[in-house]
Amino acid sequence: MTALDPRRYLFALKGMGIRTYAFEREVARSEPAGEDAGLAWTDIELRVKACTKCELSKTRRTVVFGEGSPKADLVFVGEAPGEEEDLQGRPFVGRAGKFLDQMIERIGLRRDDVFICNVLKCRPPGNRDPEPGEVKACRDYLFTQLELIKPKVICALGRHAVNLLLDTDARITKIRGKLTDFRGTTLLPTYHPSYLLRNPDAIKEVWEDMEALKRLLKSGS
Ligand code: URA
Ligand code: SF4
Repeated sequence: MTALDPRRYLFALKGMGIRTYAFEREVARSEPAGEDAGLAWTDIELRVKACTKCELSKTRRTVVFGEGSPKADLVFVGEAPGEEEDLQGRPFVGRAGKFLDQMIERIGLRRDDVFICNVLKCRPPGNRDPEPGEVKACRDYLFTQLELIKPKVICALGRHAVNLLLDTDARITKIRGKLTDFRGTTLLPTYHPSYLLRNPDAIKEVWEDMEALKRLLKSGS
């Protein structure tokens, strides 16, 4: 006896004019990665936007899922939404965001070409540092985003993104600019744009990092 191929079964049902949502989801999920990613991406976005896994859900105004291309070759990972981001529901739209825009421009790209998100999807009150419990509650969303996007390069902005993605407490000044790896994807740690606003001397190092990103993206690795 041959096993029933769910895909053929669905198409047969479809041919008879019968539509079955559950089966269509199954089939869509078994399609090549691109379409599969499309479906799962919507799922994760809805889940994050309704999330109440940590206390920040009580004080946030808007969940900041992230924005840009879900097919981007380059993903920037920041820390957490600030006041402006919390109001607008978009990442990096305040003062630090203006600086990130310049960094993206240096690579020769636009915001739409990359994906921008954060370790935490909700604003910590008063922009305090993320707490370990919050990072733990939220981190799988980021890991799933990265898994679905499958970028060529991840650029970790500042200590919190670096500490989470590299599972290290190394100082950012020690590892900035050193290429490393997150689950098989090239990762470049650099300074957070907010740090650069306070320490303009570090800007030249970030420009070097943006040059390195440009080369990496061109070389296709
Ligand atoms: N700082 C961050 O880390 N993320 C934002 O989205 C804005 C400021
Ligand atoms: Fe959920 Fe993350 Fe927001 Fe906490 S910070 S409520 S885990 S989305």
